[in-house]
Amino acid sequence: MSDEVDLFVIGAGSGGVRAGRLAAATGAKVMVAEEYRAGGTCVIRGCVPKKLMVYASRFAEEFEDAAGFGWSVPDARFDWATLIANKDKEIARLEGLYAKNLAGAGAELVMDRAIVKDPHTVHLVKAKRDIPARTILVATGGTPWAPTPKELPGVEHVISSNEIFHLKEMPRRIVIAGGGYIAIEFACMLRGLGAEVTLVYRGDGILRGFDQDLRPLMSAEMAARGIRIVLNTVFERVDLKGTERHVRLKTGETLIADEVLMAVGRVPATKDLGLGAAGVALDKNGAVMVDDYGCTNVPSIWAVGDVTDRLNLTPVAIRDGVAFVETVFHDRPTAVDRMQVPTAVFGTPEIGTVGLNEEDARRVCEGVDIYKAEFRPMKATMSGRQTKMFMKLVVEQRTDRVVGCHILGESAAEMTQILGILVKMKARKADFDATVALHPSAAEELVLMRTKS
Ligand code: NDP
Repeated sequence: MSDEVDLFVIGAGSGGVRAGRLAAATGAKVMVAEEYRAGGTCVIRGCVPKKLMVYASRFAEEFEDAAGFGWSVPDARFDWATLIANKDKEIARLEGLYAKNLAGAGAELVMDRAIVKDPHTVHLVKAKRDIPARTILVATGGTPWAPTPKELPGVEHVISSNEIFHLKEMPRRIVIAGGGYIAIEFACMLRGLGAEVTLVYRGDGILRGFDQDLRPLMSAEMAARGIRIVLNTVFERVDLKGTERHVRLKTGETLIADEVLMAVGRVPATKDLGLGAAGVALDKNGAVMVDDYGCTNVPSIWAVGDVTDRLNLTPVAIRDGVAFVETVFHDRPTAVDRMQVPTAVFGTPEIGTVGLNEEDARRVCEGVDIYKAEFRPMKATMSGRQTKMFMKLVVEQRTDRVVGCHILGESAAEMTQILGILVKMKARKADFDATVALHPSAAEELVLMRTKS
């Protein structure tokens, strides 16, 4: 029997596993290679462990807020080692499930580094084996970007989001570089767990690309919780002094911390993957260039998820995997719709957003109406917490369609998932208005906004 597989998937993350499973379910012979752990970034060192740690961090506020409701929580103490151990247990469980599901579908998972040798051959590095493949799917995801030692002397003393999930001790003081998803999420999480947090961002306001109203509000909420945000500067160098990291900023200020986290973006994981030799075109960031269906310029080589560097979110990678199998194994060419994808920043407070922000809407719509609500959440009236909730609807005048929703505050992510359906369905502002409020809730404000701002 030939060694040839119908599909060789490189990378057992969200996109690769979904594609591998679905392809194997058609009866195809599928091999999936993973060099680290089944589950990929999302499961092993991304979304899932992050969210578990975000839950942990939010108890601190709950304990504080409880006092106004008559509770006293005198001995609330946090133990990092317990959190990490329990998180690791859950991640190991999920990792096992990923492997089991692949096996259950009939795909073979090999724990090895795979390199593309030519358009129809993959080389397994540890096994020193060549595997002939009819189709190759690149699903290697992304990896944290860091400057070179020349660009940032002392860069070897900083960690990335890969390492932070496995620190033996919680850093008492941390400096975080960046103003995007990962920087904000870790800043809020570690602050909630009790760390002294300084965020250093090169621009003049965090979360570039998010709605202009949300950004300063999020900064203010973070500052109110004790996070120091230093804007308009970057690291000049990092020095290790004993166990301390001394971070010198371009402004001349030196920050002292136990750990330094660089969260300054991720890059597609295509290094030394053999794609260039196989003739696969990459963009200037190393992303695999694909057409609407995920096919590269080499007809037998396809790619899904973050390695294509389009919209780097787990559910999108999963959709890519499904679309790939539809296209290649069911002969139903399927392109993933990347519009109106809901997303959240799991800070405290949380941000949820779907559709266009006001700036983009003004660019692409003929006329835009804006509705905003900013209010003190009911719980804060008794807890005494100084916090605001913010909601914004962006409405296209001509069609009355709600083309963007932006929320800051508790449960923003949960609300945004549902709002995503409405935006996708092209719901009009009149539909929101016709909906009776659910009282008392924060979300009722979404159907009660009547005054254009
Ligand atoms: P982001 O692209 O969100 O943020 C990167 C940040 O680093 C930006 O603030 C950027 O600044 C800054 N930056 C980039 N280059 C430099 C530099 N040379 N010096 C200083 N600062 C720099 O990336 P993340 O790493 O936070 O996350 C990667 C991706 O992973 C996200 O874009 C998202 O797609 C995904 N993700 C999604 C999450 C979720 O859904 N909740 C959670 C975590 C990650 P500037 O804005 O000025 O360019």
